[in-house]
Amino acid sequence: MTESEGSLQEEPKILILSGPSGSGKTTIVNELMNRQPVHLVKSISATTRPPREHEVDKADYYFLDRDTFDQKLEQEEFLEHAEVFQTGYIYGTLRTEVDRAARQNAWAFLEIDVEGAMKVMERYPHSLTIFLKTPSEDVYEQRLRNRGTENEETIQRRLATARRELSFADQYRHRVINDDLERALDEITQILVAQE
Ligand code: 5GP
Repeated sequence: MTESEGSLQEEPKILILSGPSGSGKTTIVNELMNRQPVHLVKSISATTRPPREHEVDKADYYFLDRDTFDQKLEQEEFLEHAEVFQTGYIYGTLRTEVDRAARQNAWAFLEIDVEGAMKVMERYPHSLTIFLKTPSEDVYEQRLRNRGTENEETIQRRLATARRELSFADQYRHRVINDDLERALDEITQILVAQE
């Protein structure tokens, strides 16, 4: 057996970050990727969702049509997949993404929804899981409204989704409140460094 095959035998280092949209998750992910408090390789998810204007295939997501996604599912190429309720589209983590990080002895950084996270935890119980919370539902609602981009129906649906996601928070190893960006980043950095 070669050395690289050998390193894939152990449980890979997996960091999972979940949290409702509006919890500031994207900013946290981008900052962590820039700062690299430990060696992080971002897992690029596959999705059936069409790309948004600024998004790039194979960088932001692997944008797949439904048939291609189903084919990969059948061939067991996914570590997990879930229909993300809020969007109505399917998202999944390809096993090759975790392998890519493992080969570099880095953490595979998965930003995925609660259902996907539960599935990864079943398969890899040593995964480091962090649930990002807003200080309160009121603050979350305010952030959604301040964006000014969503209508009332969308806001109500997002609030309902957030409440549902929040009910999974206790199943994560860590819960971090994003009350202040730098403070939250410090806390996550400490968790990562302690684990490393
Ligand atoms: P968006 O469409 O806004 O990029 O993402 C919507 C949601 O899909 C986010 O909450 C994100 O966590 C989730 N998501 C993104 N990639 C994956 C994935 O590979 N697996 C799962 N289960 N959820 C994902």
